[in-house]
Parts: sequence; structure tokens; C-alpha cells
Amino acid sequence: MSYFRAIDPFPLESADQNKLHEFYEYLAADRLVTSCCRHCRRLSWPPRGFCPECVSDEFEWVDLPHEGTVHGFSVQDTGVPAGFQAPLCFAIVKVGGLRIFGPILGADPATLRVGSTVQFSPIRVADDSKGSARHLLAFRPGASAT
Ligand SMILES: [Zn+2]
Repeated sequence: MSYFRAIDPFPLESADQNKLHEFYEYLAADRLVTSCCRHCRRLSWPPRGFCPECVSDEFEWVDLPHEGTVHGFSVQDTGVPAGFQAPLCFAIVKVGGLRIFGPILGADPATLRVGSTVQFSPIRVADDSKGSARHLLAFRPGASAT
């Protein structure tokens, strides 16, 4: 039996495919945002086009803090995604009242701890098929320099 490697022809950040595509534009502008319900003010993560609390589909983007703390993490030593260096730490990071999953780039697994401080640090990845820039959420270890 043969298999082919599936490639998503419609990246989630495409405006044609995702009403939340602005999230990625904010990432490109170095802003970490999520959706906030206009009716009940619930924050969601990941961003949602409708509110799981009151089912409203009216939302606005709100900025989140750039600093978070590691809630839990794992380390990938082999087979890391193309373009990343092993070992690669993936973590659930507490940001505000939310828990956000993402890679912590440049983290030393020997020193990373639950409770470690990390900073939001979006990365540019390979362009999409139309040549548009793509950005992904990521963190880096350390406290804010400011
Ligand atoms: Zn709501």
C-alpha cells in the first residue's frame, strides 16, 4: 500500500478560508491577540468566530500580554518539523488567563522549568503558494528586557 504526504493547500491563515485570518496579520505585526466576545466579554483561545459562552458571532480582537509562564512542556529530540532545530520544546504557556500551546525556540530543555518566564516571539515561516508571508506563534525563554 502506498501513501502520499498530505499538504494543506489552503493554509488556515488564508482570508479565503478563515474568518479569523486577521490573527495572522497581527502575528506579522508582532502582536499576540485573541477574540473577545462583544456581548459577554469572554476571551477565547484559540480565537473563535463565535462565543462558546453566549453563542454570539460578534467579536473583537484584543491584545494579550507578551510575557507568559510555562505551565507544562515536552521536548522533541528527533523528527522536528523542517526548519526547526532539535531539541525543540513545546509548551503550554499561561498568558493572562489563557493557556496557549506553542514552541519555545532556543530553550534549553535542561534549564526550562514549569513556571519559567517566556516571551511571545512570532516567527516567519515559508511563504504560502501565492508568495505571501506566513507567520506562526512561538515563544522564547526569558523575561522581558523592558
Ligand atoms: Zn459571549
